[in-house]
Amino acid sequence: MTEKPTPTFIVDCPTCKAKVAAQEHGHLSTPSGFDHESGEEYYGLTVSLGKCPKCSSILVGESPQIGIGGYDSEYDEWAEPIRVYPDPPKAFRSSRIPKIVSDSITEGMKSLQASANIAACVMFGRALEAICHDLLKPEVEAPLSNTPAPTKRHIMLGEGLRKLKENGLIDQRLLDWSKELHAFRNIAAHPTDITISREEADDLRSFVFAIVEYIYDLTDRYNEFKERQAKKKKK
Ligand SMILES: [Zn+2]
Repeated sequence: MTEKPTPTFIVDCPTCKAKVAAQEHGHLSTPSGFDHESGEEYYGLTVSLGKCPKCSSILVGESPQIGIGGYDSEYDEWAEPIRVYPDPPKAFRSSRIPKIVSDSITEGMKSLQASANIAACVMFGRALEAICHDLLKPEVEAPLSNTPAPTKRHIMLGEGLRKLKENGLIDQRLLDWSKELHAFRNIAAHPTDITISREEADDLRSFVFAIVEYIYDLTDRYNEFKERQAKKKKK
């Protein structure tokens, strides 16, 4: 009699910085199916608990259902798990963060965990560009004689970051860091034969997180703090 193999699920291990086949020690799924009365389908969610086969880290992955057996698929189908423990997807608290910025970060994180490093850099670069567009008004170019109206010119990333520093929105250290990382993003965005390491993509991620935290979250907290101080003084 052959022993039943331990079930595994593919997930990103932050210690090994690689996709690993985690040995599964259990999973739970929310119900899914098709309700004939309401005509609505319900896609489930599976959370799996496992252990990295290389470094023994505990890993928890979450995979949404993408196909319901007998409804839109032959069998139940689940997307590849995204790691939710340790180091879960970062949650920023500011409500001022534009949707395009948070969406790009989410996509970048998914790409990073799928070892799609170039795609991750493109998405993080997109987040940075969107931050620049949000904070710096597009410049209005002088109209050419044969064009009817002035055209808005979108700020390029390098120029945008420089302007964020000029306007006191980021400090010198963040600007210096951005110059180093800007190159990865440029390489990633152009169809040349290159490779970007997981580490390089992760550096760009750290920078995007730092800038979002600095510009949105910390500024909000600082303003709230100042408001409270002003109220105290009034009393
Ligand atoms: Zn590991």
